[in-house]
Amino acid sequence: MLPTAPREPALAADTAGARPRRLRAHASLRELVAESEFRPSQLVAPLFVADEPDRPGATELPALARRTVDGAVREVGRLRDSGVHAVLLFGIPSRKDAQGSGAWDPRGPVPRAIRAIKEHAPDVAVIADVCLCEYTDHGHCGVLGDGTVDNDRTLPLLARTASAYADAGADVVAPSGMMDHQVGAIRSALDTAGQPEVAILAYAAKFASSFYGPFRDAAGSSPAFGDRRTYQMDGRNRREALRELELDAREGADVLMVKPALPYLDVIAAAHDRFDLPIAAYQVSGEYAMIRAAAARGWLDEEAAARESLGAIQRAGASLIVSYFAGELGSGSKGRP
Ligand SMILES: [Zn+2]
Repeated sequence: MLPTAPREPALAADTAGARPRRLRAHASLRELVAESEFRPSQLVAPLFVADEPDRPGATELPALARRTVDGAVREVGRLRDSGVHAVLLFGIPSRKDAQGSGAWDPRGPVPRAIRAIKEHAPDVAVIADVCLCEYTDHGHCGVLGDGTVDNDRTLPLLARTASAYADAGADVVAPSGMMDHQVGAIRSALDTAGQPEVAILAYAAKFASSFYGPFRDAAGSSPAFGDRRTYQMDGRNRREALRELELDAREGADVLMVKPALPYLDVIAAAHDRFDLPIAAYQVSGEYAMIRAAAARGWLDEEAAARESLGAIQRAGASLIVSYFAGELGSGSKGRP
């Protein structure tokens, strides 16, 4: 007996004409139907400004290098040439104290960098991170009282810090300490000081995350004791994140940020659905380090993996993305994989 030919699977009548592959046949067709496009101009590059720069080659994570004010200005020029027009500044002070008073020192690294960048590249958006953890000798994000971070005594210090950065010329201040009412305190201080035009990008849902390690080394901001779980959010809580976002929106935030990004895409998507404000996401140092490390071993194509991750963050609903890949993914790079 002859063997019977394998039977073709029957197509359901209502999908018989559907062939999604038709529109994937070549690049021009794929471009026509692309639903989202990741742009360098939506990236924000974090920059660490210190009195003393790192030695060249001190880190395998070049985007986390410490730069002098002059070095930061040079980097801003390089970023601008590649289509990235926004930076987020962190300061590394040469001295620390219990209050973190270096944060609002007008001669500190961040105010000096803001003035220098605005002088050389006035069209670049300058965002200044507002927190005390780089400036306190205990490494927490606020002043201590009764063995924990004292929320309400920290608020005026954050407001003072934000005003100092606004005075220096920052376009946006970005409170990251997860103190309750920090956005309201900063908004009213800026308005009282005659700086109503300075915007607030709130780190509204910032999770206590295991992905911050390389940043803490770069910024020298590891807590000397304990951890940040009494103020940063519990990663298990999506609904609580929406409540945090809501409070910051009502206190006057102009942009709401979720941090980290890739492990919290569901929160970014929920934030985009719920709020009319622009949504930001921070692709954190650990997300950057994972891709860099895998690429260094030949396991991933660094640029392709970075673009795919950033595309996912954008697709989830973030319109601006803070990323350590910003310096590598400008318009001069090779484009989509
Ligand atoms: Zn902090």
